[in-house]
Amino acid sequence: MLETFLTEEKACAEPPERTTVEDGDEKEAEASASAQTAETAKVQRAVSKKRKPVDPEEDSVPPPPPTEPTEYALNRPRRDMTQASTYRNASQSLALVPCCRFLGCAGSGLAQAQPFKVEMDPSVAVLMDLHAHMCSNEVIGLLGGHFDAASRTILVQKVFPGRGKASGRDVEMDPVAEVEMRAEIAAAEMKVVGWYHSHPVFEPNPSHVDIDNQINYQSLFRDSDSGLEPFIAFIIGPYDLRLPTQESRLQTFYVQNRAGAAEPTPLQIDYTTSKVPLDDEVAASACKLVDSQAKVERRVSPTELWRPFTTLTNGVPSGGPLTKLAKMRASLRSHLTRADMDAKDAEELLDQIAKHMQNSWKVDLGY
Ligand SMILES: [Zn+2]
Repeated sequence: MLETFLTEEKACAEPPERTTVEDGDEKEAEASASAQTAETAKVQRAVSKKRKPVDPEEDSVPPPPPTEPTEYALNRPRRDMTQASTYRNASQSLALVPCCRFLGCAGSGLAQAQPFKVEMDPSVAVLMDLHAHMCSNEVIGLLGGHFDAASRTILVQKVFPGRGKASGRDVEMDPVAEVEMRAEIAAAEMKVVGWYHSHPVFEPNPSHVDIDNQINYQSLFRDSDSGLEPFIAFIIGPYDLRLPTQESRLQTFYVQNRAGAAEPTPLQIDYTTSKVPLDDEVAASACKLVDSQAKVERRVSPTELWRPFTTLTNGVPSGGPLTKLAKMRASLRSHLTRADMDAKDAEELLDQIAKHMQNSWKVDLGY
């Protein structure tokens, strides 16, 4: 029963696992170059200009696809995502890449270390996670804050929810919304220090499109004084059925060109959460965010079943069924607890958000 439940969901919702292109796929991979979406091709063109040449295939415009695989195509060495950016087809671009780890102390300036420390306001995780729980499509937004070059520290202070623009199965920022958000961030006397988006039902590892977008953003927001690129990415995975608990997964990453790596490498960013109390502003921001989702396409139905069990330990389910509302509350509660919010205050805030959702979305949530 559990297996059937998970398998069915995976079949309809999960992008392909990262795979090596095998012989049987070669012809399809070659032929797919001409079938790229215009959006993907645009990002890839922008990125390919910036990339250090690492493979002769990456730097040349691909010839028209041959009707049969050439001898070279049949014999050349295989590697993961062999076709690199100009050859990727849509499904390859959306294969997910696990993040590597930095070594040593963040902000130490050592070559293998995370280039800066990251400190996050507790409201940021709450609001990104809330946003991700409200839509079955991917959501997207920018993060505002400050960068202190002397201490090599990024402060992530505020979430600026955006509007997405569908691009295959991934999401990109609506350019008009991005201009508006950047003006809002400037008006708040902050700098753009990151972006976030959701992978609603699959693991929050970056796709190649996400990596390309992050490379472009890092370059766009380079700090001219320090030469650093203080810009990070978050991916939130709210409804993956394989989550061990009700808490969403948050993956933070940054991209570097690493010696010996064939392609730019996504690396996990470690961060700390500031020990500042969550104030009333978080409730107001949450309610505003709920309102903004009232009429979005594929808005989540809060009373719908998320999964027929509560936790999953080593593949063994336990506990009763959970609605998406219950899942959302539990995940948000974990952020509030981590921010040292008193349990009673946390329940009051969660009630306030749910009641606001009931009124704003005109749905009966039992409040
Ligand atoms: Zn993504």
